[in-house]
Amino acid sequence: MLPRLFQAFLVLSPPSALACKCTYQSLCWPNADVFASLATRLSQPLTYPRPPESACYPINDQSGDCAEIQAGSLNATWRADQIGSMQSINFETYIDTNRSVIEACYLNTTLGAPCEQGSVPVVGVDARTTQDVIEAVIFAGTNNLKVVIKNTGHDYLGRSTARGSFLIWTHNMKDITYDDDFSPSGAPPGDTYEAITLGAGVQWHEAYSAANEHNRILVGGLTHGGSVGAAGGWILGGGHSALSPSYGLGVDNVLQFTIVTSDGEHLTVSSYSHPDLFWALRGGGGGTFGVVTSVTYRTHLSVPAVAAVFSANTTNSSTMAKMLGEYARMSPALVDQGWGGYGTNSQGSFQFLHVAPNASLASANDSYASFFDFARSLSEDGLDVQAAYTQSYSTYYEWYQTWFSTGEPVGPGMNILLGSRLLPRVVVEVNYTHVGETLANLGIWTQWVLVAGGAVSKVDPEATGLNPAWRTALAELVTAVEWPEGSTIADINDQHTALTQKVSVLEGLAPGSGAYLNEASPDEDNWQWTFFGSHYDRLKEIKGRYDAAGMFVVAKGVGSEDWDKEQICPA
Ligand SMILES: Cc1cc2nc3c(=O)[nH]c(=O)nc-3n(C[C@H](O)[C@H](O)[C@H](O)COP(=O)(O)OP(=O)(O)OC[C@H]3O[C@@H](n4cnc5c(N)ncnc54)[C@H](O)[C@@H]3O)c2cc1C
Repeated sequence: MLPRLFQAFLVLSPPSALACKCTYQSLCWPNADVFASLATRLSQPLTYPRPPESACYPINDQSGDCAEIQAGSLNATWRADQIGSMQSINFETYIDTNRSVIEACYLNTTLGAPCEQGSVPVVGVDARTTQDVIEAVIFAGTNNLKVVIKNTGHDYLGRSTARGSFLIWTHNMKDITYDDDFSPSGAPPGDTYEAITLGAGVQWHEAYSAANEHNRILVGGLTHGGSVGAAGGWILGGGHSALSPSYGLGVDNVLQFTIVTSDGEHLTVSSYSHPDLFWALRGGGGGTFGVVTSVTYRTHLSVPAVAAVFSANTTNSSTMAKMLGEYARMSPALVDQGWGGYGTNSQGSFQFLHVAPNASLASANDSYASFFDFARSLSEDGLDVQAAYTQSYSTYYEWYQTWFSTGEPVGPGMNILLGSRLLPRVVVEVNYTHVGETLANLGIWTQWVLVAGGAVSKVDPEATGLNPAWRTALAELVTAVEWPEGSTIADINDQHTALTQKVSVLEGLAPGSGAYLNEASPDEDNWQWTFFGSHYDRLKEIKGRYDAAGMFVVAKGVGSEDWDKEQICPA
């Protein structure tokens, strides 16, 4: 044990990009008095996150309401409300860098393992105000703490949690303001928008509902229950939507951010104010440049919408390949007409749900008739078409409510990893048959996320920090692996290997095409190129300008190559 005086010296040492960050149980970790002093400056008491499953332990004398945890476990909205929860439970688990130690807190208590803290941060600030965020950032800087920013915990690379870290939880920053004459900071007179400003913790279902009250719609994430954050990792990573072929990606619809940078400054960032940071925040990734406290989006007039719905099964893989090839063939024309949405190919079935704002039923029928006819013609080859229709809705919001306001996405509460590739339009146009065959043969669960092309491809690739590959893409192809709770490290390693193999199949379709950093494999080697493309060097330079101390570093985020695998010590 070091003398108290020396510990105090360590605590007060100025942070340096060359120093390891301080984690829980290190000698440098602030003592209770130091934390108590922070608490006096916050609007809420300090919080001490635990894995939610800890309520079920000790098994014979449970510390909390285990039945509530079991009931909520697969519910994304419930998970987002739990400070210690990640949507993908594998990120609550800790596996050391040598992959020899696993620490978790399993919901299934019959596995016989103890409940451990794993990768859940040990203490945090439940930020409700900008001042809370400023205090947390200054405290973390003064004490050189390992920091994580968490909003909803949806991150697919686990970037919103870290073992032994100090948490800044933005989930309860729920302010929403509508302004029909919004002018970005520094804008010339007349540069105004019908805009909505969302606090860092607002989730998409809340944002859509607020916009609808003003007869407006938003480009936003779409998932059952609308639990993804509208002003955190989604927008910082790019933000796709079924509306993107009509109105662009999330980053194409942002007017302004407010952000607390690592020196504790609260900046207003727009095209006219800190334009370099505005560029970087639109695609440079979450947890990297500072703590965003609000995002202002342009809104769009609420309009009628038409959906196209399809579902079919076959046990014949060549029939599946033909159908997917035809689906690929028609996709470029669809996005050009503003159609977007989601297709899923899983174990002999294929479904899609598409939507187009402001389309007529007649034009929708024109757009889909040839595909529906083609699919029905495959009945002789063993295709069973269960649904193939178009349907109109009085508003896009009505469509959203019908399909997404209830139910739960598949994935939250499970051990899951994704891998993905952006599919260039030219690849589909040149060889859609090959695309269909590849996807049919890939195996379980592949998603065809039709959220690029159209308006996305009309934006100058240099206008935002986003990977330029998005501007020539037609869709995002996503695959996944999963494993049961209690799996051994060896079994988990096997799933990582399987994921890398699946991603290499997608990469084979479009070598060097890149991936969406929010829905990607944590095992990407060439991640600087794959996630950021030719924008990486500029993003890193801007990060250096606004986060010289390296406070905000996440796995495979900008600048993370300068740190070790756990982003604690310099590499
Ligand atoms: C069920 C599900 C559905 C999804 N649907 C979509 C979709 O329709 N479209 C789409 O594009 N993506 C979708 N995603 C992916 C989603 O965009 C990412 O998971 C995204 O990272 C979520 O951001 P979050 O802030 O909600 O989550 P978190 O996990 O809380 O945060 C994600 C990252 O952003 C950082 N971060 C969060 N808040 C802030 C902040 N205020 N300031 C700075 N950094 C911050 C975190 O540190 C972390 O690195 C989905 C994911 C899931 C699990």
